[in-house]
Amino acid sequence: MICPNCESEYIDGITTCADCSIELIPVEEFKGNLVTPSDWVIAYTSMDPIEVDMLKANLEGGEIECLILSQKDSSYNISNANFSLVKLLVKKSDAKTAMAIINDINDRAEEDEEG
Ligand SMILES: [Zn+2]
Repeated sequence: MICPNCESEYIDGITTCADCSIELIPVEEFKGNLVTPSDWVIAYTSMDPIEVDMLKANLEGGEIECLILSQKDSSYNISNANFSLVKLLVKKSDAKTAMAIINDINDRAEEDEEG
């Protein structure tokens, strides 16, 4: 899935661009040239860097390479990072596996949720 505005590429299952808040379109419908030519796709976005770190640890436990992109590039500082969007990227070849792991974790998190 691709954002027609900023051209970020997301894994299947994500339907809205986290940056632009607009609907993503399937890759086949995207006519332009991708500005992000890499193998990486966005697998998850969150305002909570700790949550993304946790997911990254889980994915790496499943031998999936991942990358964290934060809007703040400065050193890791929780108190200042509260309002910055953090993106978790995985290799396209790992996207399906990563999605399954993330969904599994989110399902469990919902079950455990306490107020
Ligand atoms: Zn976008």
